[in-house]
Amino acid sequence: MPNYARIDLAFERGEGPWLFGTDGKRYLDFGSGIAVTALGHAHPYLREKLKAQVDKLWHVSNVYRIPEQERLAERLVNASFADTAYFSNSGAEAVECAIKMVRKCFYENGQKQRNRIITIEGAFHGRTLAAISAGGQEKYLKGFEPRVDGFDQVAFGNLNELRAAITPATAAILVEPVQGEGGFRANTIDYLKALRTIADEFGLLLVFDEVQCGMGRTGKLFAHEWSGVTPDVMALAKGLGGGFPVAATLATERAAIGLTAGTHGSTFGGNPLAMTVANAVLDVMLEENFLPRVRALGEKLRPRLDALVAKHPKIFNEVRGFGLMQGLRCVVPNAEVQTRLRDKGLLTTTAGDNVVRLLPPLIIEEPELDFALGCLDKVAAGWTS
Ligand SMILES: *Cc1c(COP(=O)(O)O)cnc(C)c1O
Repeated sequence: MPNYARIDLAFERGEGPWLFGTDGKRYLDFGSGIAVTALGHAHPYLREKLKAQVDKLWHVSNVYRIPEQERLAERLVNASFADTAYFSNSGAEAVECAIKMVRKCFYENGQKQRNRIITIEGAFHGRTLAAISAGGQEKYLKGFEPRVDGFDQVAFGNLNELRAAITPATAAILVEPVQGEGGFRANTIDYLKALRTIADEFGLLLVFDEVQCGMGRTGKLFAHEWSGVTPDVMALAKGLGGGFPVAATLATERAAIGLTAGTHGSTFGGNPLAMTVANAVLDVMLEENFLPRVRALGEKLRPRLDALVAKHPKIFNEVRGFGLMQGLRCVVPNAEVQTRLRDKGLLTTTAGDNVVRLLPPLIIEEPELDFALGCLDKVAAGWTS
């Protein structure tokens, strides 16, 4: 179907942060399949674990117990605020589960009139009808009306507007700690803290969509850890499977109270193949030195991006994000910057607000950072409109 504006480029194989194109060229992958291949391509350990599982068992359905799923749930719970986990196959489904969980929680508590969720302008929560309605972005909604009701959107970073939007029908606040598709706008620690306070004050559930910013991307396993506050519900996907489709919705027992047997489900969700890969991803990410290394790389990247903005103010005007989730807001069209970077051998992705996103695999080394920054510098220096 013509629903994707595809770049005319395909790849034969990948190795770590590199992709080898069918055009015979080598590309440094700072897009990671949109923040998915967090451990790079063809990671030896992930390959080994997946291959072993492929020879044993692929799928049985959630009619039965799935030991790999129980193990992953337990590990994610141990590594987070959550008490319980639900598995699906994509970010949108993880968000959908969160939305349904919120509604059901208040229904079970005898407050079924409380079924609305406050969302943030510039948000992206996926492409199902509920997710585009939650995201509230015209470009994704146009032609797909009627919207799913139940979402009230407020301005990014604006607590006054958020407070004013709370009514007796409000059940939850849904927010990306760092906006992904919206252009790598990071919420401040104070803002996230205030959300927790407001949620507690009004008896709302706080839901974080960490589909993009979670799984080590910011240098902590979950981006909200930087703020010191925890949500009641969190959606994960993208990096969780390192390239295998898998998603999770984590929650406290209290928030998940309504999702009793038979109320929600997925045929493929949490199957042995996906669970094996996600467990392997966790094995790597929970190694002692993994996340500190991501943080260190992010801290090296920041001043160098700042320097690029200072050096090329007619091309770039702002650094966005943190950790290995940083980007440059462009003065010139971001898609053109992306194209010129690709011609130099660097793959990036674009985002809202005219941003070029850098989403390297978390396993990159400094020489690759140097290569990427060199490409950015060359493209900016050689710009003739
Ligand atoms: C990508 C993304 C989604 C949707 O994930 P899909 O796997 O494409 O359904 C949801 N929320 C955020 C923050 C995302 O970045």
